[in-house]
Amino acid sequence: MLYNQFLTIRLAGPMDTSSDIAQKLEQHGIKPTRQRLLIGACLFDCDQHVTADEVMLRVNQSKKLVSKATVYNTLGLFASHGLLKEVVIDTSKLVYDTNVSAHHHLYHIDRGELEDINLDQVVTQIPDLQSDLEVDGVDVIIRVRQKS
Ligand SMILES: [Zn+2]
Repeated sequence: MLYNQFLTIRLAGPMDTSSDIAQKLEQHGIKPTRQRLLIGACLFDCDQHVTADEVMLRVNQSKKLVSKATVYNTLGLFASHGLLKEVVIDTSKLVYDTNVSAHHHLYHIDRGELEDINLDQVVTQIPDLQSDLEVDGVDVIIRVRQKS
């Protein structure tokens, strides 16, 4: 069954790493369907920070293979299984990040691009928390623009 899926993918387009991607999905508890493999291949081939629309355009570059709803659902699934990180820039812009390790971001407003910042480059002060709470993560986005 799996072998046939890989075969179909290989015939459908130039993807040398489809078995690596299938393995990666399975390691994260995700069943590697054809569409998930296509989206996965695109993601790990793309820039590190991408929006769903960018993934959508790239996956469907030569012909329409995957619907918008499937792209959105699959990216959400990947994120919920720890394969991607979601970075919320504002209410209208959600960026998916293939770097899932803890890090912060610089957001270049003029270019609409994210850049990684190492954790130790940003000093964060955690306020006193209620005794029943613990820190799950700290994500800092520093928004920058070109000086005019
Ligand atoms: Zn990042």
